[in-house]
Amino acid sequence: MPALVHGPRIAIVGGGIGGLAAGGFLHRAGLAATVYEQAPALAEVGAGLVLAPNAVRLLRQLGVMERFLRRAVPLDWGWEFRRWADGSVLSVERLTGVCERLYGERTYVAHRADLLDTVRTAVPQDRIRLNARCTSVHARPNGALLRFADGSRTEADVVIGADGVHSVVRGAVAEPTPPEYSGVCAFRTIVPARVAPEFALRRAQTLWLGPGRHFVHYPISGGSAVNVVAFAPAGDYTDESWSATATTEEFHAEFAGWDRRVTDLIAAGGVPGRWALLDRAPLPHWTRGRITLLGDAAHPMFPFFAQGAAQSIEDAAVLARCLAASVPDPERALERYESARIARTTRLQQVSHARRDVNHLPDGPEQQARDTALAGSDPLAGNAWIYGYDAEGARLTP
Ligand SMILES: Cc1cc2nc3c(=O)[nH]c(=O)nc-3n(C[C@H](O)[C@H](O)[C@H](O)COP(=O)(O)OP(=O)(O)OC[C@H]3O[C@@H](n4cnc5c(N)ncnc54)[C@H](O)[C@@H]3O)c2cc1C
Repeated sequence: MPALVHGPRIAIVGGGIGGLAAGGFLHRAGLAATVYEQAPALAEVGAGLVLAPNAVRLLRQLGVMERFLRRAVPLDWGWEFRRWADGSVLSVERLTGVCERLYGERTYVAHRADLLDTVRTAVPQDRIRLNARCTSVHARPNGALLRFADGSRTEADVVIGADGVHSVVRGAVAEPTPPEYSGVCAFRTIVPARVAPEFALRRAQTLWLGPGRHFVHYPISGGSAVNVVAFAPAGDYTDESWSATATTEEFHAEFAGWDRRVTDLIAAGGVPGRWALLDRAPLPHWTRGRITLLGDAAHPMFPFFAQGAAQSIEDAAVLARCLAASVPDPERALERYESARIARTTRLQQVSHARRDVNHLPDGPEQQARDTALAGSDPLAGNAWIYGYDAEGARLTP
């Protein structure tokens, strides 16, 4: 365990993947930070995520890779795009060997709970406060005052808002701007391997593209389940919550007429979750004085590049570097953190946004042009700016 240096009292609001990664990287840097999580236990919803080399190398640097590998599934194939009606393969990319050669790490798929469980091991248990819902953060001359739902309060020298897309801390650093309606929602379900079609158990990330919709699946949890997430028109649905549900019939109705392998997966899954994707413009700044944001609180993005959690882990690594490098001047550290991160996360917000329309083209000349372009594409090498980034080695402004 690293020796703690005499440093600022750091409060992290939110014990999701980003907040716990921040706690872990700060602890590794010898800085004491306390994570305040509103839930009674650290938990994640039943859903999967893709973890690309830019995030995987940070898990390795955090010293938690062995634990991650217990349940994560390495992908042999990625971006396996298929046509909605008949499953014909539009393009597919081999990842095994290629990913390591290009970026030094593989790409994995994992249950969110397994990733959370992995990251939490980097944070000392006594540094996590549960049942601690922060209700407000007020800047003070050399820090901030945090208030909690149970009436308690605490002072900190530095506050990190890692409290997700509905961030309370965000109100202390940025003008409140209401999110816009995106018109798209996500259905998600998990299918136990014993009832999943053999096809869906391959170590592949498969994306079916169709008019107004796309459907994604890959194995998780050591291959014992298949994660399904699908995007469809939201209608007047605007509930942006991991806990909201739909019915299997509603899910089926969205994908009626699609290839049998898609509809079989829907039928094999449990009650689907349903999540409206709201649209938020990138913030011009996310730091004010001794208060900053991280992860979805700072830069929520559409999940079409599968980079939201990865960016929160990158934020955590860079923030810890900046705070450790300027212990006597945390304000300067937070400025350096924001300026190191904001251009990259803004670009990811923008490209993720643009992908929505491309994935959902109606059948016709534009869709044919897209499919032709996909056939000649190489997303793994073509997105080196995403996967090649090393948050621990990236240059910081002086
Ligand atoms: C359908 C879908 C698929 C996705 N797929 C991927 C993928 O494949 N790969 C990827 O990298 N990303 C993916 N993402 C994005 C990823 O889920 C998020 O970017 C990531 O979870 C953000 O982590 P976070 O820690 O910033 O926020 P969150 O995970 O939202 O965590 C915030 C935490 O703060 C707590 N909290 C909130 N308010 C308070 C408060 N007031 N006081 C105390 N605690 C509070 C919450 O309980 C929670 O624990 C996907 C997202 C969606 C919607």
